[in-house]
Amino acid sequence: MTFDEQRERMVQDQLRARGIADERLLVAFRKVPRHLFVPLELQPQAYTDHPLPIGAGQTISQPYMVALMTSRLGLQGHERVLEIGAGSGYQAAILAELALEVFSVERVPELLRIAAGHVSALGYLNVHFTAGNGSLGWPEHAPYDAILVTAAAPDLPEPLLAQLGDGGVMVLPIGPPEGQMLVEVRKQHGTIMQREIASCVFVPLLGRYGWASPPATDT
Ligand code: SAH
Repeated sequence: MTFDEQRERMVQDQLRARGIADERLLVAFRKVPRHLFVPLELQPQAYTDHPLPIGAGQTISQPYMVALMTSRLGLQGHERVLEIGAGSGYQAAILAELALEVFSVERVPELLRIAAGHVSALGYLNVHFTAGNGSLGWPEHAPYDAILVTAAAPDLPEPLLAQLGDGGVMVLPIGPPEGQMLVEVRKQHGTIMQREIASCVFVPLLGRYGWASPPATDT
């Protein structure tokens, strides 16, 4: 099967079959070449139903998890979105297809360089990257209509909540390294509403407002 055929099958079997129904979202997943975001030797596995290692002990999330998180943002095309944890840049490219502007923060400079390379090679001009501790957000461009955190936080990071605009939505995994709950947070007229979506496992969000150090197993 060609990569295009594998990608189509991923959309049908992993996303649509599990209830991802937003056509704009499915079009984005059909378009973004996920195999270009993984190391060369893992390209044959790029469209499988799994997360994959991308170096520096980090992973590109399972396609369904990327779709589930993105679908909760309800993007229509006019939004400014903050992503914490650029990793491979795949999620940022999906967001670039669906929103107006994407701001993505990554703490590992080497990953950031690779992610930015992937995203610019595909011609996206609406994604902006910076290196740093994303648990502090990216205050210069706040407020955001949507915030997506792709690493597990111990709690709702206060600076991210502060940078979420009114009417905005944030999706993030909260909990210890062994396993977390994916949570949707909405800010409406200054009131915060939280809803649990599904259990999940992400790499830890590190640094202030994140976990203090990598867990012993993450060597
Ligand atoms: N969204 C990525 C997957 C990210 S994996 C993708 O589509 O490929 C989680 C990422 O979060 C890792 O790259 C990790 O280095 C990063 N990370 C962990 N703690 C962070 C922090 N405090 N600030 C920014 N990035 C962080």
